[in-house]
Amino acid sequence: MRIVLVGPPGAGKGTQATRLAEQLRVPHISTGDLFRANISRQTELGKLAKSYMDAGNLVPDEVTIAMAKDRMEQPDAEGGFLLDGFPRNVSQAEALDELLTTEGMKLDAVLDLEAPEEEVVKRIAGRRICRNDSAHVFHETYKQPAKAGVCDVCGGELYQRDDDSEDTVRKRLEVYHTQTEPIIDYYKAQGLVVTISALGPVDEVTKRALEALKREDDGR
Ligand code: ADP
Ligand code: AMP
Repeated sequence: MRIVLVGPPGAGKGTQATRLAEQLRVPHISTGDLFRANISRQTELGKLAKSYMDAGNLVPDEVTIAMAKDRMEQPDAEGGFLLDGFPRNVSQAEALDELLTTEGMKLDAVLDLEAPEEEVVKRIAGRRICRNDSAHVFHETYKQPAKAGVCDVCGGELYQRDDDSEDTVRKRLEVYHTQTEPIIDYYKAQGLVVTISALGPVDEVTKRALEALKREDDGR
């Protein structure tokens, strides 16, 4: 399956993507995680991306699309993928369509995770991620690690993302509403959007997502 996950920052896209990718046996591709891995390795791309990310802005399309394309062309993504955080504006969505058309492929669904602003703000404020891998995600209250400050998965140090500060979050939410939300209408026109509530325990949201994706698949 080829799926795009969309939703405001803090809705739980990364959390759900890890679980859905395992169930659906496709790789989880997060452009945010790819940028953060570049930042830790101190690559040129990482240095460029960090300046945009810390300000809560989108990294320019040219570099983002090239990076996403390169990842989607890896052998493990041949049979499908779950995109998390890409596309994030209409030009990226058009670039993705173009890439898929060239390869004779298409998306199966766009899963829209809906959550009210006050909830995503709480989720972001308590989010802690692992230095070794930003896909290892915890929360100060909602998902505490067994040992405070230590990643359950790999023992790495947990920290708060630089762009999870209050000011940057406000900017990221504004960017989401102005630049990312329009892709929902873009994909609605293609009949691909499945909307679910991102509220409730993580397991319940995963269950809801899998059922919604199954209904969508059966309806084709
Ligand atoms: P996104 O990728 O959409 O920005 P994350 O998956 O990183 O969001 O989740 C944001 C924070 O909220 C994390 O700290 C995560 O542990 C927590 N979280 C995710 N899903 C839930 C949920 N259903 N209930 C409570 N907290 C959640
Ligand atoms: P995320 O990990 O998805 O919350 O993304 C963190 C930050 O990385 C965003 O606020 C952007 O600055 C950048 N980013 C991630 N994905 C994209 C994308 N598709 N286009 C542009 N910037 C992105």
